[in-house]
Amino acid sequence: MENMTKKKMYDVAVAGVGPAGLSALVYLLEAHLNVIAVGPEVGGQINDTPEITNWPFVPTVSGKTFQENMLAFFENLQRKFPEYLSMVKGSIVSVAEAAGKIYKLTAQTVEGDMVFFSKAIIIATGATRKNLPVPGAQELQGKGVAFCGTCDAPFFKDDRVAVVGGGNTALENTLTLTRHAREVIAVIVTDDFTGNPDLIERITKLPEVKIVRNAEVLEVIGSAAVRGIKLRDLNTGREWVEDVDGVFPSIGATVNSEPFTGLVETNKLGEVTVGVLAETSAQGVWAVGDVTNVPFKQIGIATGQGITAALSAIGYVESLPSTSPCEECAEGSPGFKEKILAKQEKEKEFTYPDVTDEQFFKEVLTRDGDTLLMVRIEGCGDCKAARPHFLEAQKRFPSMNFITIEWEKNPGVMTWLNEHEKVRAAPTFVKISSGKEIDRKVDMERPREMIEALTL
Ligand SMILES: Cc1cc2nc3c(=O)[nH]c(=O)nc-3n(C[C@H](O)[C@H](O)[C@H](O)COP(=O)(O)OP(=O)(O)OC[C@H]3O[C@@H](n4cnc5c(N)ncnc54)[C@H](O)[C@@H]3O)c2cc1C
Repeated sequence: MENMTKKKMYDVAVAGVGPAGLSALVYLLEAHLNVIAVGPEVGGQINDTPEITNWPFVPTVSGKTFQENMLAFFENLQRKFPEYLSMVKGSIVSVAEAAGKIYKLTAQTVEGDMVFFSKAIIIATGATRKNLPVPGAQELQGKGVAFCGTCDAPFFKDDRVAVVGGGNTALENTLTLTRHAREVIAVIVTDDFTGNPDLIERITKLPEVKIVRNAEVLEVIGSAAVRGIKLRDLNTGREWVEDVDGVFPSIGATVNSEPFTGLVETNKLGEVTVGVLAETSAQGVWAVGDVTNVPFKQIGIATGQGITAALSAIGYVESLPSTSPCEECAEGSPGFKEKILAKQEKEKEFTYPDVTDEQFFKEVLTRDGDTLLMVRIEGCGDCKAARPHFLEAQKRFPSMNFITIEWEKNPGVMTWLNEHEKVRAAPTFVKISSGKEIDRKVDMERPREMIEALTL
């Protein structure tokens, strides 16, 4: 999964590669932005989800299959956009504003700390399960206190296990455990479950599930391993012990917003406060999925927010100067600042060799030899990505005439081109030889190959 490049400055940093972060990545990469994705793994909470019954258009799918699909999808992105995507296995630990609308991020990785800079950030760090705030719970974590039904249920074969909580996570954990354990005690602090009504109906009918209502856990008992839980009836005050071999706290999650709390506004639960476009209180920073204050924590919602944020970030990044001479960016690699300045100068120097309609018909079509024409649209990301390859080819083939036309500004050329064949995408490359169109290539993802095919 690791594909760390030496690049230190990125257009967008995506923190977390769960459903929200992965959805954002697709759109950012399709727009050919330089993206760094940082996360301990691909999949997020899906890795712990037994089954997904509410993903639109797909019948019930196991969390494992869903996660495998996510990973395959991610690997495909890595193959498709090797020059635009850098993946770092680790976690963002701090973020600070650097000069020139740039953020400085530090990631903790297996190879040590890594510092890099980004023009925009998408926070997609999701949430982590909460443990029970009672004696024994922390100490016995991994010794019978577990969180993930899918991953850990097989360890409790023929055992007696307690699931604590009343929402969907508790219901799903209970259901999964019934496939392995002898008996599952479902402990709820209120009168009834609060999760999915179908799941509630299924679970309440299962003979191997004992439901304990209006009760709280006072202690997890055991030393080398869990032996029981101490409960109190909230109506009568009666206290008793249930002998169990395992406890699955399923009482919600804590949002993973900590590294960003100095940068963006959060609510009292630590959730990042966002607007309808997933924007945060900081310019150029979006937050998506379970880490936000959006009350519904679902894959579909995380996905939609990821896409929304990516589309917003694309517009934002493209509206910024393409590089920034920020002093601090020099930190990570010597000479980095110089490189940025040189690139900035080069960008400034670059102007499209646009021709007018009149020039096209009077000079280009009457010219002997080959001309490479690029049809472009102002502000189009793919055209921008094609620019360096166009420039490079121009240098390599000095005898060829390189020109560009802007879709809307050259109605005459567009009519001429469309007489030969409809042009429906930008950038489109057309090789014209002695006044005749002889070849045309369109593949927005591979401008270099297209240009090479027409110039060689
Ligand atoms: C048991 C269970 C069952 C569920 N069932 C369903 C269901 O059936 N249908 C449904 O729609 N939803 C379900 N959900 C909810 C769904 O899984 C979440 O809404 C969804 O995963 C949220 O996606 P996310 O990308 O926002 O966050 P997450 O999935 O939490 O992913 C966040 C990622 O960011 C990483 N991360 C954390 N901190 C950092 C950091 N500092 N730097 C970098 N990376 C970081 C995390 O390790 C993780 O990989 C279920 C959840 C659970 C726990």
